[in-house]
Order: sequence, then structure tokens, then C-alpha cells
Amino acid sequence: MVLKKVSAIEKEPLEMMDLPDPVPGPKEILVKVSACGVCHTELDEIEGRLQPKVPIILGHEVVGRVERLGTGTAKFSLGDRVGIAWINSACGKCHFCQDENENLCLEFKGTGCHANGGYAQYTVVSEEFAYLIPERFSDSEAAPLLCAGAIGYRDLKVSEIKRDQTLGLFGFGASAHIVIQVAKYWGCEVFVFTRNEEHRSLARRLGASWAGGPEDEPPKKLNCAIDFTPVGETVPHALKVLEKGGRLVLAVIRKRNSIPPLDYAEHLWDEKEIKSVANITRKDVQDFLHLAAEIPIIPEVQEFKLEEANKVLNLLKQGKIRGASVLRMRDP
Ligand SMILES: [Zn+2]
Ligand SMILES: [Zn+2]
Repeated sequence: MVLKKVSAIEKEPLEMMDLPDPVPGPKEILVKVSACGVCHTELDEIEGRLQPKVPIILGHEVVGRVERLGTGTAKFSLGDRVGIAWINSACGKCHFCQDENENLCLEFKGTGCHANGGYAQYTVVSEEFAYLIPERFSDSEAAPLLCAGAIGYRDLKVSEIKRDQTLGLFGFGASAHIVIQVAKYWGCEVFVFTRNEEHRSLARRLGASWAGGPEDEPPKKLNCAIDFTPVGETVPHALKVLEKGGRLVLAVIRKRNSIPPLDYAEHLWDEKEIKSVANITRKDVQDFLHLAAEIPIIPEVQEFKLEEANKVLNLLKQGKIRGASVLRMRDP
């Protein structure tokens, strides 16, 4: 499924095309894709809030099997089940890369944005940017762990949440429904803010002690909050219900609309902080896959066919996906 030019998702811009199988270069592996998660960031790419290189094959939650090895590869064997995440490459030399902040590398490239991704039957990737998938997950369950889960894990780390503290999750999609499982495992109390009644009931089932609307007052102030919503209005509200010294983490790459003006006294005073999360490192993905298997995380997954990608993305935009959505590939 190829995106040729930036367009509203309602116009169903992804096109099914027959392309030659990609060939792995030196240190690359060819992966036969079995499942690829659908992420909200893809809406930002399709609609131009993020600039993908076009034409592009989207998809950065890729699960498949190693089908061919390029020259000089050493990490995997044929048939290994691997995952590919948002980080497709980084330079490895700049000070960000050297300080374990490769997510901030000036040459950072995203899978399905600057390099072809997993909305396809085959894809290639550098072996250094692929990960073995823990056995306990099915292909479809593993897909959302690679972005929704791994970036959610980074959000939690950046929030610096501690045991017994209160965590607010604004929006309850693919990422939040995994984050809540980690936060509960870490002994945090979780409050969920979403308009969607179905999302609220999933949140309660996964251990939220309270679920309300985006403007509601939670029963306790929040030590940390993570904002997964694509809208700007959430920011002042989340800051308002933060505890003194609390931190708000912005999890999305782009907001659909601007953040309303903040009032210093109401929103920022008392040492409140705002921090965004940019991209992800290989270590985040690797650490999270281990943690996910240990907990274990149980992703709620809705499966679709590859050719239904436009439909799924429209449902995602309308907030009609429960948990995470995954495209399943058929054999060519
Ligand atoms: Zn993503
Ligand atoms: Zn770098």
C-alpha cells in the first residue's frame, strides 16, 4: 500500500501496487512481513503534518520472518521472527548518538517515513535496527508493542513516575492501553481521560481506578500525566490537574491544532513541567520487548487485511479503534 502524495485520509490516498521485492544490501535483512500495526503517526504523515519522503510504504510496527540475508550480516538466521520499529537508522557518530540519545540524531530516519515500511509483503532493514520478538506473543500481538508499546514505555520513563504515584492518561488508544498495563505493574494509580465510553470501559478493565471525560476533575491530583491526544486543548487541562512539581509528557509527534495560551499561575507555577517525547532509541525497543514479555502485556488487537489500510486509518482518525489495529499480510 503506497502513499504517493500527502492528502486527507478521507480521500483514501493509499494505493495497492505491485512492486518488485526489495533486495537486502550489505548488513541488511529481507523480512517477509506477517503483521504491521497501524499508528496514529501515519495519519500525520498522510495528511502532511509530518513530511514523509514520497512515494513511500508506511508502517513502523512490523513483524515478520527473515527471508534473506545481505552480505556481512551476523545477527539473525533465516526464519528468525523479527520486529522493526520507528527508528530505521541514526548516524551513530554525532553527540546525540554517542550519548545514547540516537532518537535526537540529526540524521534520524523513521521507518515508513524516510525508508519503506511494513504496509507490504516484504521490507528490508539494517540488521542493527531489527529485534527478536519474544515467543509468548503472536505476530499480531507483537506488532503494537513496537511503537505504541515501546514509545509508551519511553513516555513513562520520561515522566519519571514512581511507585504509588498517580498517573493521568489523556486519550486511550493503542499506546495508552499498553502504558496502563506497565504503570499498574509498576504500582502506580492510573486515571484515564477520554470522551469515548468504550475506551473508558477498556481502561477500567485494564486497572484504571477512575475514567472520565477530558475536562473532568480526577479524584486526586496527578504526579505525572501523559497526553496521547492529537488536540491542543488537552495541554492546559492536564497542567491544571497536575500536582505541584508534576510533569506532563506530550506523546504525539504533532498536534492537529495549536495549544491554547497558558496561564502562568494556573498551569505552570509550582514547578510544573512539560516535556515532549521525540522518536525512540533501539534500547527503548529492546528493553520494552523484554519487559512486555515479563509482565506480560496483553495487547487488545483488531485485525484487518492489508488492502483495508485506508479504512483502518479512517476509523483510527474517528477514534473508533479499540486497543490497537493491525494489518495482516497474505501470502503473495
Ligand atoms: Zn508509531
Ligand atoms: Zn547521530
